[in-house]
Amino acid sequence: MSVFEHHEFDQHEQVLFCKDKASGLQAIIAVHNTNLGASLGGCRMWNYTDSGEALTDVLRLSKGMTYKAAMANLKQGGGKAVIIGNPHTDKTPEMMAAMGRFVNSAQGAYITAEDSGISIDDLNKMHEFSEHIAGIHSRYSFHGGHADGNPAPATAYGVFVGLKQSVKYKLGTDLKGLRVAIQGLGHVGYRLAQHLKNEGAELIVTDIYEQQLQRAESEFGAKIVSPEEIIHQDVDVFAPCAMGAVLNERTIPQLKCKVVAGAANNQLAKESHGQMVMDAGILYAPDYVINAGGIIDIYHQNQEDSSAQALKEHLEGIGGTLQEIYKRADAESLPTNQVSNLIAEERFGK
Ligand code: NAD
Repeated sequence: MSVFEHHEFDQHEQVLFCKDKASGLQAIIAVHNTNLGASLGGCRMWNYTDSGEALTDVLRLSKGMTYKAAMANLKQGGGKAVIIGNPHTDKTPEMMAAMGRFVNSAQGAYITAEDSGISIDDLNKMHEFSEHIAGIHSRYSFHGGHADGNPAPATAYGVFVGLKQSVKYKLGTDLKGLRVAIQGLGHVGYRLAQHLKNEGAELIVTDIYEQQLQRAESEFGAKIVSPEEIIHQDVDVFAPCAMGAVLNERTIPQLKCKVVAGAANNQLAKESHGQMVMDAGILYAPDYVINAGGIIDIYHQNQEDSSAQALKEHLEGIGGTLQEIYKRADAESLPTNQVSNLIAEERFGK
């Protein structure tokens, strides 16, 4: 398995491999870039078909974290860890302990956090062996929410702030009476719906779970449509909050909105789709900029001298970052996703 010639290798500073015989841990840590600070990124446990697939994932995701941290104004770089195995059947306390020791072997260049397949309990087990664990302290919350380590409230608030800024930039209005279509009413989407409703927006929603839809209908007076119909709703804003690759060759021509602003990761099926969205006259809020609330939250929970107010202000900075992207995109006639990548690279000094 080649690393340096790998198509996802992008001058990563470190790629560490671990095979711990006693616990069965097989894991990889990738530190992409630490120019702005120690690398931060979640640990994912997934039933990868082989170590090659795991390597591809960790190289790609760690690079993404460098861009995300830079655009979130964190003094942090990008890194990621993956554990090869089924989180439901293969995970043991011994394995999490071994993972803690493995994180330690990066000597602080990598700080781990929660991701798919890894819980706060797992992180606490790792913490017994390593100081370099984030997202377990949850010292305070903002907006009256309960601080339980769940990043979704912060993510939802960041998306709300970013959506509002995007509407102001594109349409010159606030959210009152605006029509917003939300795809996915999960941890983030439902909270986003609540914020939007509070500001007087009209909601059109979809999910594959009936229960969430009924709640949104009774609590927010939301109109329910099927998952197939959400894309072509006649709305001002489309907020993807379910899965990735939702903006592609098939869906972009169907969009009737003026703004796309939502929480989902990897919304563009390909980077080149950013140009297609721009050509359709739609303003796209780059996903890793608008959905950075979770990582901003984790960052603040790890700072001894931070506060709920500092976290809130930092989240509200997402609006200013998007404004900077939009202005430059207009000035240089470039798609917003490209401009975001450029600004991130300038910030971390690629
Ligand atoms: P979630 O799993 O709680 O919610 C996703 C919702 O989408 C679920 O209710 C699910 O039923 C629904 N859904 C799935 N497929 C659908 C479909 N085809 N059509 C309509 N609805 C569908 O996840 P979440 O934590 O709310 O995250 C939502 C998105 O935001 C994900 O892409 C996630 O990667 C991204 N994100 C989340 C966070 C966070 O803090 N939770 C941070 C950054 C990015």
